[in-house]
Amino acid sequence: MNAPNPMPEAPATIAPITQDVLTIPRKLPEGGLRNLVGLTRDQLRDALIAAGTSEKQAKMRVGQIWQWIYHWGVRDFAAMTNLAKDYRALLAEHFEISVPEVVTRQVSADGTRKYLLRIAGGHEVEAVYIPEETRGTLCISSQVGCTLTCSFCHTGTQKLVRNLTAAEIVGQVMVARDDLGEWPVPGAPKDETRLVSNVVLMGMGEPLYNFDNVRDAMKVVMDGEGISLSRRRITLSTSGIVPEIARTAEEIGCLLAISFHATTDEVRDRLVPVNKKWNIATLLDALRDYPRLSNSERITFEYVMLKGVNDSDADAKRLVKLISGIPAKINLIPFNEWPGAPYERSDWERIEAFADIVYKAGYASPIRTPRGEDIMAACGQLKSATERARKSRAEIASEAGL
Ligand code: SAH
Ligand code: SF4
Repeated sequence: MNAPNPMPEAPATIAPITQDVLTIPRKLPEGGLRNLVGLTRDQLRDALIAAGTSEKQAKMRVGQIWQWIYHWGVRDFAAMTNLAKDYRALLAEHFEISVPEVVTRQVSADGTRKYLLRIAGGHEVEAVYIPEETRGTLCISSQVGCTLTCSFCHTGTQKLVRNLTAAEIVGQVMVARDDLGEWPVPGAPKDETRLVSNVVLMGMGEPLYNFDNVRDAMKVVMDGEGISLSRRRITLSTSGIVPEIARTAEEIGCLLAISFHATTDEVRDRLVPVNKKWNIATLLDALRDYPRLSNSERITFEYVMLKGVNDSDADAKRLVKLISGIPAKINLIPFNEWPGAPYERSDWERIEAFADIVYKAGYASPIRTPRGEDIMAACGQLKSATERARKSRAEIASEAGL
């Protein structure tokens, strides 16, 4: 990282906006057991055949093993009672069913649960479960850290970045279901209430810079014979990686949320530096096609409320003008402060006045209630404990051009 520049008028450092991260493959334990979690059906089929399953049986075996892993939550091949004993032994020789390890679990006074999870290589990511009256939302991570250095986001200040594998992404959902005791009990009456009823890709990382793994993981989560969440219960949040937006519609088809946060390129360049690559007009063009391509209803525009930065009446008016014609809902997020953050949360009256303008223009404008604040579980605050080599306030401010 560059040293903080002592000149008060120093030009902003250009934040890294390239996809210069790798997926580090799982380090195979002794014996080279391959993890079956996160494989697509085709990949699972190939893996089973490579281990000696006959081509003729492969399809049926995929179906059976899939159900054990994703419907019943089984982690041990010995429990797969509709498979012959010697076939179970064969599976155990070649494969494992493994999910991230829970390092700590914190439960907030409001019921929010934050999990710190350890993944291959000793890295850590966070996932947050938010129970509400009519649904339970699991917020999951797609990367360790993030390359995108948005100046108001704690994750963006983390130095180390690596992509999560599909297994590590699906694994977060499985770990939450373990903790909530959500796997069905054989023989018990079918319970239709889902504790994890919604998944949002709003944790650490930029999901569209880890597209293939996120897509494969969401395909597993949406598969009707397993975890079986509908694509309308999955929301992917992106800072605006324009070339991947149409792909998201076509290859995942989930709901989309956009971290919009500003109404002029000048301000958005500072808040969301990837705007320098794909500016507001380019982003909005890509968004206009999304509902048709994905056959989904509305796009959520996320807008973090930063005092004196992006929260004026003029901003609210510009915002509704910019998005006119796009079926949208605007989610106002009171800024979640973190130690050393270079911004403050807008006053409550300001947020309400802003919401009012947006609402009167015909858009739903919910103000997101901060949840799990006592355990730092809120949006943009996620950052793993082992990678806390935090940039200095000066570095953050200089990158943001402040
Ligand atoms: N990288 C993706 C998804 C993760 S961030 C993205 O940027 O969309 C999830 C949401 O939280 C984004 O809208 C992000 O801009 C917002 N956010 C980040 N830091 C925040 C903070 N400190 N307070 C409030 N919202 C924040
Ligand atoms: Fe990355 Fe999203 Fe944070 Fe920006 S807001 S730094 S894109 S996680």
